[in-house]
Amino acid sequence: MQSQSKPPLLMMQTILFASTFLIALIGVPLYGILEGFTLAGWIGFVLVLGANGMSITAGYHRLWAHNAYKAHWSLRLLFALFGAAATQNSILVWASGHRRHHRHVDDIDHDPYSAKRGLWFSHIGWMLRDYPASAEDFSNAPDLQRDKIVMWQHRNYLALVIIMNVLPALALGVITGNIVEHLLLAGVLRLVVSHHSTFFINSLAHFWGRRPYTDENTARDNDFLALLTYGEGYHNYHHIFQNDYRNGIRWWHYDPTKWLIKTASWIGLTWDLKKVPDFKIQRAVLTMKFKRAEQRLLEYKGANALHLSEFLEKEYLQFRKTLQDWNAVGQEWMDAKRQSIAEQTECLQQNLADAWEHATLRSRFQELEYAMKMQIQRLETLRTQLA
Ligand SMILES: [Zn+2]
Ligand SMILES: [Zn+2]
Repeated sequence: MQSQSKPPLLMMQTILFASTFLIALIGVPLYGILEGFTLAGWIGFVLVLGANGMSITAGYHRLWAHNAYKAHWSLRLLFALFGAAATQNSILVWASGHRRHHRHVDDIDHDPYSAKRGLWFSHIGWMLRDYPASAEDFSNAPDLQRDKIVMWQHRNYLALVIIMNVLPALALGVITGNIVEHLLLAGVLRLVVSHHSTFFINSLAHFWGRRPYTDENTARDNDFLALLTYGEGYHNYHHIFQNDYRNGIRWWHYDPTKWLIKTASWIGLTWDLKKVPDFKIQRAVLTMKFKRAEQRLLEYKGANALHLSEFLEKEYLQFRKTLQDWNAVGQEWMDAKRQSIAEQTECLQQNLADAWEHATLRSRFQELEYAMKMQIQRLETLRTQLA
């Protein structure tokens, strides 16, 4: 029988998730009906929720799990404290598990929250039982074991969870004179909403949405989920370019985590923000567009099928050529850089020549980028013809 082969239930986690969920579902509305909530109560809820959420997305996820940027110790301390309040395990456990998720994505035995095991499992089921894929193994996180704040939080995790779950709500209650309201809203409801919004990234963001960059894993881009997850809904992008500090790469993408990291860089709290070059992103988009166009053409029965297939063949050759040119220009760029470092002359003539060469190479890069943008548009037109 299947239930007998399942690992044992982890009682503490199960009780925590179930009891907080029940209080949020029954206790909170009941109090609202009987006593009513004040505006201050809801403001407190939003503030503590935001601090929790961003500590997970900007701190646990993009900073510690992916090293997408570097941060000042004061910011890391805030992330460690409010991340503990989110009650999703210590940074060390969370980030090393998440690195395994990326490395073995969708693998039933090695991805701790493999989407191939279903929506429930990837959302919360994986935390309720003692599954082998979730066994603690920090061998992929030596960098985190050298981080004093990470290790301090790991050693004092339980105490920090209790303090950081109660203290902000209690402080708000004392200030406003309504402790019960804040314990319910900034305490319990905030914890439940914070839990499930993060869990959506492992569950729904692997099931629901589009795959513009890769179809080699289940991760999806989903604008609606981005709204609920502080910008983490662009999960297809994230799985192919995991070290980018952004998840939503366009200015109109809702990614408050990216905005926080960028804004903090202006006052020196973050630095070394990693960003994938536009060309690589376009290369991924075009690769997917060619793949899909080929698949559609195989099923296409229109009279102009031969013509469209010749068009696609021509476009593909051009794509290969653009990639070759890009590599060649890249090589020239590296050579020029190496030479200018080697020469290091103070000669003005040489500096001007270097600057001229760099400007020429840059404009060639831009031309190639433009060529790819145009190709994306042409393939988009082809897609509508094949629809
Ligand atoms: Zn994922
Ligand atoms: Zn990730």
